[in-house]
Amino acid sequence: MTSGGCGGGFGVAMLPGRDGPRVVVRAGDFAVDLATLAGLPVLAGTEVARNPQWWQAGSLDPFLAAGRAAWQQAAGELGPVLADMDAIGAAATPLADVQSLLSFTVGDYVDFYASEHHATNLGRILRPGQEPLPPNWRHLPIGYHGRSGTIVVSGTAIRRPSGQRLDEGADRPVFGPTRRLDVETEVGFVVGVPSRQGEPVPVGDFAEHVFGVCLVNDWSARDIQAWEGQPLGPFLGKSFATSVSPWIVPLDELAAARRPVTSAGTDLLPYLRETEPWGLDLSLELRVNDEVLSRPPYATMFWSPAQMLAHMTVNGASVRTGDLYASGTVSGPSPDQVGSLIELGRGFLDDGDEVVIRATAPAADGSTMDLGAVSGTVAPAASPAAGRRG
Ligand code: CA
Repeated sequence: MTSGGCGGGFGVAMLPGRDGPRVVVRAGDFAVDLATLAGLPVLAGTEVARNPQWWQAGSLDPFLAAGRAAWQQAAGELGPVLADMDAIGAAATPLADVQSLLSFTVGDYVDFYASEHHATNLGRILRPGQEPLPPNWRHLPIGYHGRSGTIVVSGTAIRRPSGQRLDEGADRPVFGPTRRLDVETEVGFVVGVPSRQGEPVPVGDFAEHVFGVCLVNDWSARDIQAWEGQPLGPFLGKSFATSVSPWIVPLDELAAARRPVTSAGTDLLPYLRETEPWGLDLSLELRVNDEVLSRPPYATMFWSPAQMLAHMTVNGASVRTGDLYASGTVSGPSPDQVGSLIELGRGFLDDGDEVVIRATAPAADGSTMDLGAVSGTVAPAASPAAGRRG
């Protein structure tokens, strides 16, 4: 396993002996404090040293907004230095001593549905006997706007949501804690450079806007979702919590993991056509209580991240620094590659269950990059009395 330059990703963390949230980059088993590193002699005269505002905000926001030339320059300067622990020891903290925080101010949040295998599996479960994919599915990346205010960093406990559900055979809904709490194994894309309202982002401009990749668990209450979802789609069955991994891995660090996506060979409207649409060869792993349940392959996705961004903005909707869009559940063609419990058909989450999603990717030197993990443990539902005023 290698971190490969800045391939371990950028994040924000509390570090022992240092005040406030710190912008950090992961190098192997260490988090390196960038405000401290930028002041060390080894980086004298670099852009990393000349732009302390990128590292002193307690958030990745200023660095995200700096744009691709700055991202590449910083990665080029940091990469060789991060390999030399003797030179950077004063700025490094073992990961075990680090408390990761949400590393950027999440703007808008969109969740797509870009896996053909997942959409087909769900279609078969929810609409048995019918064509599993809706007629629009191969023409546009289906998505919905989620709730950015409930996005939490890996490790945050997830309280079981309550809501309305319609039990089998019942003619009236009941209210209570969800009985079908599920996970969705996803990959997220973090926007750095904003676009202007009224000006769509073409597929070819994707790399100028999107900084990097994280892992996402789109927690889902299937019974609430099933009852509320017609005709406007996901609402309270999704909005209670979405977990993200702490490390944002720059897209340029994942160049060796690029793979063509399935939509490449299909007849698309011009704004979705790319010369060589690419996705990423990320090997995901879904564990519940330390048991590996599946290994979803991101390389099997139908839509590319550039196509998702182009579709999201084709009506003139703009993106902002910190916007997050996720791929939708990643499922491969075989039963041990599905990214949700409803597809596995083996029951849902109990209180106390711990869910961990990890990912790796091939690196340029033939080794394996570690994209880290997004984890969360299910906490019991709030009691009905909680929150009531006497
Ligand atoms: Ca989802």
